[in-house]
Order: sequence, then C-alpha cells, then structure tokens
Amino acid sequence: MSSLLINEVFESIQGEGSFTGVPSIFVRLQGCPVGCSWCDTKHTWDVLPDNVRTADLVMLENEETAHYFDASEKALFELFAAQGYRAKHIVITGGEPCMFDLQTLTSMAIAQGFSIQIETSGTFEIKCASEAWVTLSPKVNMKGGYEVLSSAIERANEIKHPVAMQKHVDELNHIIARRKTSPPPLVYLQPISMQTRATEFAVKTCIENNWRLSLQTHKFIGVE
Ligand code: SF4
Repeated sequence: MSSLLINEVFESIQGEGSFTGVPSIFVRLQGCPVGCSWCDTKHTWDVLPDNVRTADLVMLENEETAHYFDASEKALFELFAAQGYRAKHIVITGGEPCMFDLQTLTSMAIAQGFSIQIETSGTFEIKCASEAWVTLSPKVNMKGGYEVLSSAIERANEIKHPVAMQKHVDELNHIIARRKTSPPPLVYLQPISMQTRATEFAVKTCIENNWRLSLQTHKFIGVE
C-alpha cells in the first residue's frame, strides 16, 4: 500500500477521448510541477501541508480548492463503496498522477472488476498495471521544463492533444514520430477551450490525418 494525495473524488461521465460517455469514478491526485499556462486545474499544483484535510471534509466541498487528503489504495476503494458509486470505470487524473506509483491502485482496480484509465502529461515514469489504459496528453515546452518521456510515448494507448494552431500539430507529429512500438496509439485532437476557431482547425486537421475529434462533452451537458 502507498499513500495517495487526493484532491477530489467524484462520479460522473467521462467527457473526453475513447471512453467518452462512460460512467466513471474520477480520482484527482494533488501535485503537478509541469506548469502549463492554460491549466484549468491550477489548484492541484501545490502540495502544502496547511491544505491537508480529512477525507470527509474534502468530500463535502462543492468547489475547487487546493485541499487534499491522504489515503491508501484500500481506503480509496472503501470510500467508493461508502459513496455508493456504481460506475465500473475509474479515471486517475490530476495534477500529474504519475508522480505517484499507481501499480497497486491499478492492480486492485482490475482485480475488483473495474477498468482503469490514467490521464498523464507523460513527464513522469508511468507505474501501473499492464491492463490500465493510458491517455497521454503530452505537455511540450511548459514552464516547469519537463520533457515528455519516451517510455510514456511507448506506453500510451491514446494520445489526446489540445490544439488551436499548426504549432500544436507540429508538436504532436514530433511526439508520434518518437513512437517505436505497434500498434500506434489512437490520436485525438481536442480544441483548446472549445473556441470556435480552434474547433474548426481541429476538425479540419482530424479529417486530413484520419485522427479523431475529442470534445469536452461534459461541458455541454453541464457535469464536472
Ligand atoms: S500537466 Fe495537467 S495539471 Fe499539470 S499544469 Fe499541465 S494541464 Fe495542469
């Protein structure tokens, strides 16, 4: 067992990528040094002892905060049961979840009949069960100065890339070119902030490359 720092846990519908539409338990881990300027979860960046709360208090919070609780993998599954969650798919997100060793968590999930997905920037070694689905959302040239690791590119089941302009597609092509193993990952383009011009650009680029479009459908239907 290890100690996970958890910013929030909730049940919703996965809105992005291959599992779009799948009821899911989301586990957001605390901590990320990557420093994306457009990050929409900046409250998960810092791990400050003053922000430690109990699991009960964090679960009662209705808004995004930098508060987090500490839990073992076993305690996390007990929390799912106590909450009465019915989803059989788990999404581990962040923050940067691969700052933690996810081998035990993902193995326990598989053993209990869940499917499990990790959403990562690819800047930390991915430690997880072989059955876990890895969604790589590569973060290139961000303020924190982290590189996207070759091991993360090889492990990715899908690559989901936020785009608004050609520069982002060039970055993506550079990442794809580094992949050595087959089959290639699924590739999804996601228009940044769902802006109209970014969406038009993503649609056009998907058609040209036979890639897939990922819309943040949870925002259309008004869920987290
Ligand atoms: S890697 Fe993710 S959590 Fe970290 S700064 Fe970038 S978008 Fe935010």
